[in-house]
Amino acid sequence: MAKIVLLPGDGIGTEIMQEAVKVLEVVGEMEDIDFQWETADMGGVAIDEHGTPLPDDTLDACREADGVLLGAVGGPKWDDLPGDLRPEAGLLGIRRGLGLFANLRPARVFNPLVDASSLKAELAAGVDILVVRELTGGLYFGRPRFREETETGGFRAVDTLEYTTEEIRRIALVAFEAAQKRRQKVTSVDKSNILESSRLWREVVGEVAREFPSIECEHMFVDNCAMQLLRDPKQFDVILTTNMFGDILSDEAAMLTGSLGMLPSASIGGSVGLYEPVHGSAPTIAGQDIANPLAMILSAAMLLQYSLNNVKAALRVEKAVEDVLRRGYRTQDIWQEGMQLVGTKAMGDEVAKAVAEGGTYGKS
Ligand code: NAD
Repeated sequence: MAKIVLLPGDGIGTEIMQEAVKVLEVVGEMEDIDFQWETADMGGVAIDEHGTPLPDDTLDACREADGVLLGAVGGPKWDDLPGDLRPEAGLLGIRRGLGLFANLRPARVFNPLVDASSLKAELAAGVDILVVRELTGGLYFGRPRFREETETGGFRAVDTLEYTTEEIRRIALVAFEAAQKRRQKVTSVDKSNILESSRLWREVVGEVAREFPSIECEHMFVDNCAMQLLRDPKQFDVILTTNMFGDILSDEAAMLTGSLGMLPSASIGGSVGLYEPVHGSAPTIAGQDIANPLAMILSAAMLLQYSLNNVKAALRVEKAVEDVLRRGYRTQDIWQEGMQLVGTKAMGDEVAKAVAEGGTYGKS
């Protein structure tokens, strides 16, 4: 049995979650996975119901699950609340509460969508990158962190960038283990020509690399990596990097694929993984059956791979998404002339059908 907690959240979250569950139910039948669902409140909906974006009951339910699927949180209704009461505070709270120190962001160009990339088709075709970003350390969490007035009447603001051997080692292990299931290459990105924390980063990653002799490991400066992602993105398999560099590079890599509605993510490292689309709650299109559910469905595929360790089931879903796109089905955000425009539900139905029919989908 696989116990999955569903956190649909706000805006389009509910609609896209329904489609992910629809697809997982079909995969479950085919792969003999007995899903047990539990839905809990998080984000704006939790503020309305319980006065807090992440109720204790929700976190407790997640801790006991085999995996957690999150839609998206936030919306104009809650924008004026103080920071710690806003829906987004729930996101930080759940990451901290579940000890999720590794963020996995795939950037894959599906062949039928190659023209949506901001790069020329010949550079974009075949791109399949996994950015592994450290999520709970580095510049975003380092102390001291303050602002003070200076004698000249201005201010001095300080952030601290620190990493420990343990923090680097555990995220490096995630990257090398992921590379073992992919194309056997890790590119570790740092700024070790300038930063002391990056020199430690490079040393520790080098040590971990020696434990994985079959994996090719290269080190790259972050400025070079930013450039190489645009010049020759196919050279990358797994990119391993710090919190801030990963924040920036994963967005850059994402744009190679061209569409926000297609990007899944996983946060892992604790006892249970959290899977969510990269996009937000898109409040202006909520409730209209036009949101693209594919990022949510691909997040569910990551849950199959990383939390249930069922690579075959994950591949079934990814292949189904590609097949549906190849047949020309598009939601509004990725629609192009000559393609078949479908809504959220119809897109979910098509993916579920493609999963069920496997290799015969679209052949009759
Ligand atoms: P957004 O990602 O919600 O939307 C950006 C643009 O992309 C909009 O035009 C939207 O309509 C479109 N879009 C996004 N997802 C789509 C989908 N699946 N299908 C079709 N179109 C899609 O970002 P935003 O507008 O900056 O933020 C809206 C709300 O979401 C805010 O409250 C923000 O704080 C929140 N947010 C939440 C998360 C999260 O839950 N992880 C992430 C980012 C933003």
